[in-house]
Amino acid sequence: MNLTEIFNQENKREEVTIQFPFHEFDNEKILNSPEINLVLMNIGKGKALISGKAVLEFKLSCARCLKPVKTMVDLDFEREIFAPELVTDEEIREDQHFVEDYELDLDALLTEELQLSWPSKILCDEECKGICKKCGKNLNEEKCECDDFVPDVRLANLMDIFNAAQK
Ligand SMILES: [Zn+2]
Ligand SMILES: [Zn+2]
Repeated sequence: MNLTEIFNQENKREEVTIQFPFHEFDNEKILNSPEINLVLMNIGKGKALISGKAVLEFKLSCARCLKPVKTMVDLDFEREIFAPELVTDEEIREDQHFVEDYELDLDALLTEELQLSWPSKILCDEECKGICKKCGKNLNEEKCECDDFVPDVRLANLMDIFNAAQK
């Protein structure tokens, strides 16, 4: 995507809706066939605003029981970008590595935005009981007989007193 006009032409605005360019992200398949709406806007000499919106559907594993959970990842970003003559090499590396000269590397921008919007922890349910560490059973589906009761110190002391009193 060439940015020459967007950087140089005052009040220039371009809007496109295109098929989202990836079929997967982070080895997870994108299950819907999303479109992305992109708006590029000149906001001064050599300055532009790029914004994008898309909703992507994934099936990600619950962090506790590993069950697949339908997860919508909402991409909704807005970035200020600058023509190469207005920024240092360091600023390009840190803030807009997806702008090379007057070209926008859309894949690189979307990769970064997806990383930023990626959910940090997926749970099938806030109350998910997870998987027994000893026998591997899914504790949402069945109980197991494993003894994973680890009393804390105060409780252990109380139980000692209780046990002693019973003798
Ligand atoms: Zn779960
Ligand atoms: Zn168990």
